[in-house]
Amino acid sequence: MLEKEAPCDRLPKMMPQLIEKLQRSTLNQEDDLISGYGPIGDQLMSIYRHLFAAFGPQGWWPGTSPFEVCVGAILTQNTNWGNVEKAISNLKGRNLMSPRAIYGLPRESLAEIIQPAGYYNIKAGRLQNFVTFLVEKFDANLDVMFATGIELLRPMLLGIKGIGPETADSILLYAGRLPSFVVDVYTVRALTRHDLIDEYANYDEIRSLFMDHLPTDVGLYNEYHALWVALGKNYCKKTRPRCEKCPLNGL
Ligand code: SF4
Repeated sequence: MLEKEAPCDRLPKMMPQLIEKLQRSTLNQEDDLISGYGPIGDQLMSIYRHLFAAFGPQGWWPGTSPFEVCVGAILTQNTNWGNVEKAISNLKGRNLMSPRAIYGLPRESLAEIIQPAGYYNIKAGRLQNFVTFLVEKFDANLDVMFATGIELLRPMLLGIKGIGPETADSILLYAGRLPSFVVDVYTVRALTRHDLIDEYANYDEIRSLFMDHLPTDVGLYNEYHALWVALGKNYCKKTRPRCEKCPLNGL
């Protein structure tokens, strides 16, 4: 649902509704102008503080190198992290955790190696599309790729077949340490249930909500996205949300 790109034409309709909702909220009464980014920024920071107080630092993204983080971001689509870890371990065990090693591998062999991650034929293709881009455009050098900067690099990543906005932003933020907020299904679910976003808001609108109203801070974006995931896994579940004990109860 989130792996699509759409024109950002609903934001003007969403924002007045959101501002009114946030001004009615009682969650941040103890926090005055904590973000310096107006009432929306204050409320987003207040939500962040409640989540951080409940879950603590999340230590994202697991991975021993930026390239491994990129691989994880591609393999984690539609599967749980435990399965991704097995696929990553298979690659590392065969000394294949490098752009050039994956670039030179037959796709069928790669699919077999990453099989635990699920959808392995599709994911092998996506992974090779990414490493082909990295090798052929940036000589397999992630530092050079990230030095391109968000404004140019994000559309380039989105142009790779199989890389949607959530994956592109995960690569930018967690591998490149560039300030690009990641939106996922957990974020959308909680914000929608609290009527803080229009149910039809698209990926870029929701990303802009955070990026336009929070300080441009890689550490904050890193932790905030991880905390939405913790909220979704522990409380704001798809069915039977555990609202009574949820840290956002009352928003
Ligand atoms: S679990 Fe309930 S209180 Fe918590 S974020 Fe979801 S809807 Fe809100």
